[in-house]
Amino acid sequence: MTAKVTVIGSINMDLVSQAERFPDQGETLLGTDFQTIPGGKGANQAVAASKLGAEVTMVGCVGDDTFGQPLVTHLKDQGIFNVNVEPVTHAPTGVAQITVAEQDNTIIVVPGANAHVTPEIVKQNEKAIQNSDILLLQFEIPLESVEEAVNIANQYNTTVVLNPAPMQPVPLDLLEKVDFLTPNEHELTELLDTEEKKRFNEQYREKFFVTQGSAGVQFVENGNETIVPSYNVDVKDTTGAGDTFNGGFSVALAEGQSYSDACRFGNAAAAISVSQFGAQTGMPEREDVLRLLD
Ligand code: ATP
Repeated sequence: MTAKVTVIGSINMDLVSQAERFPDQGETLLGTDFQTIPGGKGANQAVAASKLGAEVTMVGCVGDDTFGQPLVTHLKDQGIFNVNVEPVTHAPTGVAQITVAEQDNTIIVVPGANAHVTPEIVKQNEKAIQNSDILLLQFEIPLESVEEAVNIANQYNTTVVLNPAPMQPVPLDLLEKVDFLTPNEHELTELLDTEEKKRFNEQYREKFFVTQGSAGVQFVENGNETIVPSYNVDVKDTTGAGDTFNGGFSVALAEGQSYSDACRFGNAAAAISVSQFGAQTGMPEREDVLRLLD
């Protein structure tokens, strides 16, 4: 049976300018290169899961502008089974304006249409959530929409994976309702910023699958802390490593793999992605992952 994954999240166009140095305030500078690259955590994770063999439904919003339709077409071209993305007329497509210079970068993210993924839009996709093995969420759409999606998933016993990125204050009851939380180490520290949340962590330790970059993923099974190590690869570009892990981890869970096998699958997918350039362009096909796991 093909794994069914629904992703409700952000869709962005990354506008990447390269320059020899960063401009000063008020200065206009000639750059050296420019690229438009599809991104957004929701779209990235949906593409990862689709390439890794799941039947994916992507729910989100773009603007009725130059970037909106090409992003929808792109998602379909990437094999996403069901693209439930309608253009909104009152907001621009989400963009990340990235300047790369001096081996560093600056980024301005304008959420635009992503802020219009309302609880009503989530509700319209109730059937997709009901029919999925996994609902995969992030924090680049409004919190109330994430909450609505989790409530619907709970109603139908659909398993929820929440990648709490970018981190924001999270109500404890939301954390209680999700099945798997996949912060990186930095996000975990922010997530447990109160005594109450630290107690929550103690109580629900087994929900946390903490990604630790090149070290792999740490989680607790039968009371014991375990690390599933990552794969040693020649690192070219770590952009999208977390998104690829989340896509892979979710596909493997949807297929009924054990927690440690799901971590291995996610790690292998993410390792291949860091050995290639680009977030979505670096994401592997299922066969590549199976070869690495062999
Ligand atoms: P990013 O923001 O770069 O997308 P992240 O900070 O959300 O990533 P990380 O914990 O850095 O998440 O990485 C996610 C997963 O990617 C790791 O658990 C691991 O499987 C894989 N990974 C990351 N860096 C490396 C690396 N250098 N070598 C091999 N695998 C890696």
